[in-house]
Amino acid sequence: MRHITHVVGGEPWPHGAVRQGEVFDPATGQVTGLVDLASPSDVDVAVAAAGTAAANWREESLTRRTKVMFAVRQLVDARRDELAAVVTAEHGKVLGDAAGEVQRGLEVVEYACGIPAALQGRFSENVSTGVDSYSLRQPLGVVAVISPFNFPVMVPLWFVPIAIACGNAVVLKPSEKDPSASVLLANWFAEAGLPDGVFSVVHGDKEAVDALLDHPAVRAVSFVGSTSVARYVYERGTATGKRVQALGGAKNHMVVLPDADLEAAADAAVSAGFGSAGERCMAVSVVVAVDPVGDALVERIADRMTGIRTGDGRRPGCDMGPLVTRAHLDRVVSYVEAGLTAGAKAIVDGRAVRPDGDPAGFWLGPTLFDHVTDDMSIYTDEIFGPVLSVVRAPSYDDALALVNRSPYGNGTAIFTRDGGAARRFQHEVEIGMVGVNVAIPVPMAYFSFGGWKASLFGDVHAHGGEGVQFFTRGKVVTSRWLPPAGVRLGFPH
Ligand code: NAD
Repeated sequence: MRHITHVVGGEPWPHGAVRQGEVFDPATGQVTGLVDLASPSDVDVAVAAAGTAAANWREESLTRRTKVMFAVRQLVDARRDELAAVVTAEHGKVLGDAAGEVQRGLEVVEYACGIPAALQGRFSENVSTGVDSYSLRQPLGVVAVISPFNFPVMVPLWFVPIAIACGNAVVLKPSEKDPSASVLLANWFAEAGLPDGVFSVVHGDKEAVDALLDHPAVRAVSFVGSTSVARYVYERGTATGKRVQALGGAKNHMVVLPDADLEAAADAAVSAGFGSAGERCMAVSVVVAVDPVGDALVERIADRMTGIRTGDGRRPGCDMGPLVTRAHLDRVVSYVEAGLTAGAKAIVDGRAVRPDGDPAGFWLGPTLFDHVTDDMSIYTDEIFGPVLSVVRAPSYDDALALVNRSPYGNGTAIFTRDGGAARRFQHEVEIGMVGVNVAIPVPMAYFSFGGWKASLFGDVHAHGGEGVQFFTRGKVVTSRWLPPAGVRLGFPH
């Protein structure tokens, strides 16, 4: 049995662990590891080490910081398969998908390699006679990152490289369901030359999260997870004066207009609905078919679903892996049952799947419901599994109103051949990330990622320029290097 423990001050830190959590291989249902769950005093040790490290790290030159980032980039690039295999072993997603998440994380490391340009301030000469003004951005100190199970590499890398390149020290609290990738990342940052304590990993659950939220030395918290926890983290973190960005859950709608290329729309709905078994915050979970396109679209989606092979993510040819835990599988299956009870039409029922894998794995095949209405729980709730709902809408206006009524606002997409309709949709829709004939419109690392409404608490999105803004605070200096000007009590004019 593997023992997964914290990384504090550059070292494994197993001391003091009283509670442990089980880590599963979702494709076999077996427990493969035990992870230490930090107590508040464990968190204190990590934050103290980070505090000492932060004071020195902020003094390091931009050249030194970027050198470390370039070295991290080389290591992750060279070992991307190793990292992807660790993700698959604990999360369950297929290896190719895990490699994709490593790539997206790596792109943020690459953005952080250019941090000197992103951190540049502005300078105004002679704002008054002989007086100059300039702005700079400085690190915050110790910052915490709290991440979800569904992207154990990409989501930590949305924040960690930028926070560190900006001169902060990071304490990462990854999901206790798939904690091993974070340990690898921390070790590789150290190998790349990052001083001890600048990047620590503390495993744990609510107890560790609360300790980070309440700790006076933690200046900022970047959180990603479900909406209820995101709201809680935002409220508790800001109550103690921290800067908090808390990204929450989602229910992403893909609108298909009658003039859309139906083959492309059906391909996209299947890929975006069932990739990573629907355990993506940008997964499409609702297809809004605008009349009269519904029947033709549903037929094409169902046809493509017959080709999806559900099985062990390590086996060649498998497209979709298991769900992350037995408890999560049971929850998703309960939604399938609720959909049937509510009268939705099951076109494909994933409970009948015959997986290419160990029968004890946490399996559910792709599931498609048609004629879903907005009062059914399969429509209202984030299921976070391979369950796709089709809602019929009489017109574009009805489709738009449905999307805008959703309490969530992470991602959405429109499929159409009409540029004017697409332009109107991107303007009118109340969602943070919009795709035009792109089902999963995840912004690149140099843009910023973030939803609206209940999908993000706080006002600053992740990575890109907003990431740099989040992990630094501004200062404006006004300076004069001239001989004394004499006493003047009036306001300069
Ligand atoms: P989760 O909310 O259960 O857990 C997220 C983190 O919070 C974990 O580190 C966990 O240990 C911690 N946590 C859990 N319960 C807590 C509590 N009561 N108090 C304090 N901390 C707690 O989320 P998850 O199941 O790991 O991840 C899936 C969720 O994350 C989905 O809702 C998904 O939409 C969301 N997500 C959102 C984005 C985004 O960018 N908006 C990205 C990825 C995932």
